[in-house]
Order: sequence, then structure tokens, then C-alpha cells
Amino acid sequence: MIDADFLRRWLATAAAVVDREADRLTELDSPIGDADHGSNMRRGFTAAHAAVELEPPQTPGGVLILVGSQLISTVGGAAGPLYGTLLRRAGKALGDGTPATPEEFRDALRTGVEAVGKLGGAVPGDKTMLDALVPAVEALSFALDAGGGLADGLAAARIAADEGAAATVPLQARKGRASYLGARSIGHQDPGATSAALLVAALADTAAE
Ligand code: ADP
Ligand code: MG
Ligand code: MG
Repeated sequence: MIDADFLRRWLATAAAVVDREADRLTELDSPIGDADHGSNMRRGFTAAHAAVELEPPQTPGGVLILVGSQLISTVGGAAGPLYGTLLRRAGKALGDGTPATPEEFRDALRTGVEAVGKLGGAVPGDKTMLDALVPAVEALSFALDAGGGLADGLAAARIAADEGAAATVPLQARKGRASYLGARSIGHQDPGATSAALLVAALADTAAE
């Protein structure tokens, strides 16, 4: 079951991994962006973690909504509103206070990822965070439908997100700053797909604890 405590533990893990990997995310954002993705993510997740620990929401949806709101208000770059919308929409989809089943959590994540597509106008293959997020949700869904539990599903999602991020290297960016480079965006891994894979990995680690 996904309760508020599970998502608080996810957030602590995610904030730590974002902090640890911030330099790498910024390096990825330097050839095809403006070299701020790591600092953007670090600022957002540090603020979100602090806000949730200061006044811990009692419901899983409440945790996601608070994290999303913090990302929107503290991150200047494109990734802040996009991740913020994902988490706020997923939090709203979780609804009332009861802990979510793995299937309800999967459905909420899917709603959130769809909202990212609507907000940013991107589809998989455009070399964005969606190239990691969409396969992750599909892998989670496939594993749950096959009778797996949450930890199995999130382990599969982690692999799919990593593969999706790696698969952005040969793509030409069609959305965001990297798209301004046209064909020169080819040959570099997308920073947002990379951070998305880190956030999914943190979910898998939380479920495996
Ligand atoms: P900015 O580009 O404003 O500096 P960041 O560097 O924090 O913002 O985030 C860049 C990442 O945001 C990109 O690597 C990409 O994955 C993601 N991104 C940008 N535009 C979009 C979009 N329209 N849809 C989905 N993801 C996007
Ligand atoms: Mg940037
Ligand atoms: Mg920027």
C-alpha cells in the first residue's frame, strides 16, 4: 500500500539522490541546454523535502500535492512546472486519505504523466522527460497486470526509465531549449529524462526497503 509515510520516504531518497547527482544533471544540460537542470532540481527537491518534514501531510495525495506545489514555486526552469504538474495531478487523482493500492498509484502516475504531455505538448520520442516517464508507467502497469507486487512493478519501471533515458541520446529534441539546437541536439542524453529515471529509481528503492 502507498501511504503518506511511503511517499515521505520516497521524497527523502529522491532529494538525496538529486543532491548527489546534481552536477551530472547540470553537465548533461550544458551541451543541449543552459546548464541549470541539476541546480534547478536540487533547489526544488530540497525545498519540497523541507516543507513536507515541517508539516507532514497525513495523506499520500497530500504529500504529492505539496511536493508538486513546492517544485512549481521554487524551480524557475521548465522542469519545475512539468514535474510539479505531474505530482499535483497524481496527488489529486489519489483522492481521499486512504492508502492507495499499487493499481491506484499506477493510475495516478499515469494521470500525472499525461498532464505533463498536455502541458508541454511533447510525446515520447521528442527527447524529454516523457521518454523515461511513459515507459516507466507502462512497465509498472505491465508488471502489476501480470500479477506482480509493487516492488516488482517499480523494479521494472526503474529499468524501463533507465533504458528510456539512455535511448534519448540519438534523438533530435523537438521540445524545450534543446530543440533550438536542431540536429545538434543529437548525441546527448536528455537531462530531464535522466532526472526522471532517478526519481523512478528512488520509488523502486523505497518499495524494496
Ligand atoms: P530549462 O530548460 O528551462 O532550463 P531545466 O533545465 O530544469 O529547464 O529542464 C530541462 C528538461 O525539461 C529537459 O531536459 C526536458 O527533459 C524537460 N522538458 C523541457 N521542455 C519540455 C516539454 N515541453 N515537455 C516535457 N519535458 C520538457
Ligand atoms: Mg536548463
Ligand atoms: Mg533554465
